[in-house]
Amino acid sequence: MKLRNIALCASVCAWLTGPAATVSSPDGRLVLTTSLSAEGQPLYSVTYDGQPILLDSPLGFVSNIGDFSKGLTLTGEKTGKVDKSYDQAKIKKSHIDWKANTLTESYSAGKKRDMSIEWQVGDNDIAFRYVIPVEGGTRSMIIEKEASGFRFPDFTTTFLTPQSDAMIGWKRTKPSYEENYKADAPLNEPSQYGHGFTFPALFHVGDNGWALLTETGVDGYFCGSRLGDYKDGVFAIEYPMPEENNGNGSANPAISLPGATPWRTITIGKTLKPIVETTIPWNLVEPLYRSDFEVKPGKGTWSWILWQDNSINYDDQIKFIDFAADMGYQNVLVDNWWDTNIGKDGIAKLAKYAQSKGVNLLIWYSSSGWWNDIEQGPINKMSRPIPRKEEMKWLESLGIKGIKVDFFGGDKQETMRLYEDILSDANDHGISVIFHGCTMPRGWERMYPNYVGSEAVLASENLVFSQDFCDIEDFNATLHPFIRNAAGVMEYGGTVLNKRLNRNNDGGTTRRTTDAFQLATSVLFQNPVQNFALAPNNLTDAPADAIEFMKAVPTTWDDTVFIDGYPGKYVVLARKSTDGKWYIAGVSAEEKPLKLTLDLPMLTKGQEVTLYSEDGKGPLKAKSLKVKDPAKVQLTLNKRDGFVIVEE
Ligand code: CA
Repeated sequence: MKLRNIALCASVCAWLTGPAATVSSPDGRLVLTTSLSAEGQPLYSVTYDGQPILLDSPLGFVSNIGDFSKGLTLTGEKTGKVDKSYDQAKIKKSHIDWKANTLTESYSAGKKRDMSIEWQVGDNDIAFRYVIPVEGGTRSMIIEKEASGFRFPDFTTTFLTPQSDAMIGWKRTKPSYEENYKADAPLNEPSQYGHGFTFPALFHVGDNGWALLTETGVDGYFCGSRLGDYKDGVFAIEYPMPEENNGNGSANPAISLPGATPWRTITIGKTLKPIVETTIPWNLVEPLYRSDFEVKPGKGTWSWILWQDNSINYDDQIKFIDFAADMGYQNVLVDNWWDTNIGKDGIAKLAKYAQSKGVNLLIWYSSSGWWNDIEQGPINKMSRPIPRKEEMKWLESLGIKGIKVDFFGGDKQETMRLYEDILSDANDHGISVIFHGCTMPRGWERMYPNYVGSEAVLASENLVFSQDFCDIEDFNATLHPFIRNAAGVMEYGGTVLNKRLNRNNDGGTTRRTTDAFQLATSVLFQNPVQNFALAPNNLTDAPADAIEFMKAVPTTWDDTVFIDGYPGKYVVLARKSTDGKWYIAGVSAEEKPLKLTLDLPMLTKGQEVTLYSEDGKGPLKAKSLKVKDPAKVQLTLNKRDGFVIVEE
């Protein structure tokens, strides 16, 4: 051992100020360079087409078994390749090929303490994680602080959403990834609450390109992380706040050794195309268990979104089951308070009625009643294995195929374990799970076969709660495909055809966007299970073509292609349905009419397509058109307007 250290000293000393290693992507355009600082801290930098995306950025961590953030020596280096293909029905693309060049660098912190950093470098994605071996008798480790960070050139602008204080908001349920974004803000813009920003985080590195940061592979063996506020030129990885989850559970992750941290990922492109189309969150993970039942994605409606708490009664749920059947939808979501207002016997009767109409019930639960003030029932059924398993057994006996669990309390490892426990128990009973009031998914679409969606966004309910939110619905819609929904499925619960957001379509807040805008969001916002904010009255008061579209629109896709857009301004995407039809959808938040000339290579000259649009004035109509030149399809969009083109 001693001999090896001496032999290495000569070469390590030579690397102290120079690059230790360089890895290029398979296409050669993305280049990662690692080095060791004079203090012995691992650093990395990234270029794309020779232009800097990340400048020397820090790596390492401090743990209760040693400081791996400085005084390290490089002890080994290994390169390799990843070439992997897999199918995944729930995300933006159904078949994925992942090719990357890999680098593993091993470091010694002295005193028999070693650590490796593993890298994967694909054409538009970089991922890294720390791997810690067993040494001596030490078989567990707590990470006190991570040094991992991201140093962007100072002309970079940011598209970030803040982490909230813990134990604030509705019934003290935050943080729940339901905060506003700032678009194109300077790097040093302080976060709203002083706790930095949640993943995913988008950066515009001027003419050099774009970068999306997030993490994946987070399960019950680690916490969710976030970015701290910009400090000394760096956004550093931070762990949950001790106050999260009402103070329950540690803020620091504990791992069993040998072990690894989750993958932190950087998606990079000259344009926004690689950001929108990335599959990096799923490329790096594998399913954690098998599902013996078929998870059936599908469409549904929910009374709660427009009719609110008063609609959680037997008769109103019958109306929504009938409505779902009329729409050809698979699901009706019964939201909070069903335990007191409908009761278990009532749910059993409803489930039977729904099944006679070919509809499944999805049933709402609070995650708990002991880390927030939620009184909406049922509470305390999902937090512990004994009541949870009882409840799952009961749901299975009624043939219920899905649940929605709401109001989690943050990103601690303890909470990640709860998400995993709920998913695992539900899987034993043939039940799929949607999370609301929750953290963002981190590879979960692939890791957990029966996971079908998370909110983790300011979602459709805010249209009902706030006119201000209605007024910026267009701005928000142009962000999600580039940020939140680029990194994970997003259960938004939207597509509203009511003009007014109340039960009788005659009061409450006023929708500012067009019907065509709303149809476009059903394509732009991707989640394998969609609970649309439609109501029975829309069968007669919404444009007939809009209803026909909503009956036909799919919820799973074979492919997703970025066409045009800029976060906060406008977005146009194309998605290919599993039966081979392309849907091209766009919305605008621009003040002035937006003249678009779109290159749509998926269409052919002379092909017939249906255009759903307002034609500048409304009402929404479906119009059959022949494609003149697929490379120059011209459209004009007003502010808060949208369109969808569907292949015939
Ligand atoms: Ca919510």
